[in-house]
Amino acid sequence: MIDEGYTKYECEWRQAPALAAEAVDELNAWRNRLHEQGLIGYYPEHRVGFGNVSIREGDSHRFIISGTQTGHIAHTDEKHYALVTACDIDANHVVCEGPVQASSEALTHAAIYALDANIRAVVHVHDANLWQQLIDRIPTTSRNVTYGTPEMAHEFQRLYADTDFPIQGIAVMGGHDEGIVSFGKDIKQAAERILHHAATRHRARCPTRCS
Ligand SMILES: [Zn+2]
Repeated sequence: MIDEGYTKYECEWRQAPALAAEAVDELNAWRNRLHEQGLIGYYPEHRVGFGNVSIREGDSHRFIISGTQTGHIAHTDEKHYALVTACDIDANHVVCEGPVQASSEALTHAAIYALDANIRAVVHVHDANLWQQLIDRIPTTSRNVTYGTPEMAHEFQRLYADTDFPIQGIAVMGGHDEGIVSFGKDIKQAAERILHHAATRHRARCPTRCS
């Protein structure tokens, strides 16, 4: 969000009607739950949203992702999603369609889907406490690599090959402040992998008064 890649991010957007509500219902329900937990939201000081969710469309390379600048909305619906139809990670280029543009972090999602055809959903959240708590304790991308760069995609490949990232399905983005990413065989698994750690975060924060 604040850090920028060296290649300017380009999104080629074709305005189109919203996807069918059934196509995004489950994805959106999990997105709203993550928003409730503050894992998707809005930085008023930077006037920018954070956090995004996606699901693969069938067996294709295409995916449905939450739209850019939707982080401030507590309850989104199908009008807040875009279909990413093509991505070029090396060129930092995304092609999408829908009533809104795809999240500017669509390339992070594309890099995760490219790891394995069995990855069907990706969740990317921001949380300062959780990031501090998990960095270098779970698979973590290099602090020198910012999001939206080809190097970040290579970092995910490295983690997938050399760590238990394929099993845990969750990683800290070391070079993207507060950024955490997870994947799953469906959106439930991807979201729960984050929420599981977020529950720990909550207990750590208030050990006596919260139950
Ligand atoms: Zn981010």
